[in-house]
Amino acid sequence: MTDATLVLNAGSSSLKFAVYSCEPDGPHVRLRGKVAGIGTHPVFSARNAHGQPLPSQDLMLVSTEADHDALIPALLTWLERHEDGLTITCAGHRVVHGGRLRGGPAQVTPALLDELEALIPLAPLHQPHNLAAIRCLAATAPHLTQIACFDTSFHRTQDWLAQHFALPRALTESGVLRYGFHGLSYQYIARQLPRYTGVHAEGRVIAAHLGNGASLCAMRERKSVATSMGFTALEGLMMGQRCGSLDPGVVLYLMDTLKMTTDDVSHLLYEKSGLLGVSGISNDMAELEAHPAPEAHEAIALFCYRAACDMTALATSLGGLDSIVFTAGIGENSALVRRLIVERLGWLGAELDTDANARNASCISTTTSRISLYIIPTDEEVIIAQEVHDMMQHSPLGAISNA
Ligand code: ADP
Repeated sequence: MTDATLVLNAGSSSLKFAVYSCEPDGPHVRLRGKVAGIGTHPVFSARNAHGQPLPSQDLMLVSTEADHDALIPALLTWLERHEDGLTITCAGHRVVHGGRLRGGPAQVTPALLDELEALIPLAPLHQPHNLAAIRCLAATAPHLTQIACFDTSFHRTQDWLAQHFALPRALTESGVLRYGFHGLSYQYIARQLPRYTGVHAEGRVIAAHLGNGASLCAMRERKSVATSMGFTALEGLMMGQRCGSLDPGVVLYLMDTLKMTTDDVSHLLYEKSGLLGVSGISNDMAELEAHPAPEAHEAIALFCYRAACDMTALATSLGGLDSIVFTAGIGENSALVRRLIVERLGWLGAELDTDANARNASCISTTTSRISLYIIPTDEEVIIAQEVHDMMQHSPLGAISNA
């Protein structure tokens, strides 16, 4: 039997999972899958390392009542049948918020869980689900060593200016800082850069993680210099359902004049804005691209306009720009979004190779473009598996004792 790592990425209505065997040269993916529609209509899908679908009939997930607490034990039982010569000894979790000090992964202990619970108000949509998965796994499989890998860690290399708001110092000292997110995705991109960009890898790069959640990260020497998402996952780019950066006066107006409650405002900004709010049709970019209504195309145009404007702001933090990398669902697949963004950067010398862009090729800039343009598919799960692997190599750890 070979030791293996289970990677979990628990969201509000989905649970992504992957299993990696622990080989001398690092983790190798053996299977990956997803349960979507948790709490409403769970749908299970899984594929082996060759991309072939794995049977799911034996995983009883069709009950609409199935929640994370029911799914994790069912998933472990299913994995025992399909993990073929592997013994899961560790689990790595995506945890959105690690606070100001966590610059890398950490073993889960009761003290760490308390520390991460205290960060829930800073990431209310994600952190509770991430932590619930850790607790549930600790109760179901107490022998497993669990490691938390943070989306904020990659940004802890940023300097003072990039991490601060123009607020009174007492608030800053209490933790009102620009933390940044999507760090596991950016860490993967940083690792892949030499393969795609050769000598430019250590240069001035903006990575654009454009998925349902969206942000930008300015990197130099493959380290985070600045990012568009700050204190919460609301700041920065327009997203599927989130508004992105907003005049804080709008929030005061909603509460003072329109008498909206905190819950109403939170729901509006996190769930009803972005592509969904502007189009009035959908939060899904592919659906909007195919829709004939002008509102759908206005929403796409606003998404791209704001992304291009924020890219030029981040280019200033880098003192120039050598490369842009597009990643995540929209960044990897939407030729239209990439074109509309790059067209606005023509004044910086960015030139799109339209054929390569239409094919979703790895390099999508012309040979004369002053900025190199790339598509790099992201893989947050392999970064988590690698972080677990590295921690286990350096100091074998024990299971969480009393989470
Ligand atoms: P999440 O943040 O939920 O992980 P993803 O990275 O999977 O999101 O990105 C989801 C987004 O990617 C959706 O808006 C979806 O419509 C978009 N997307 C996926 N494929 C395409 C495509 N071929 N064309 C345009 N948009 C696409």
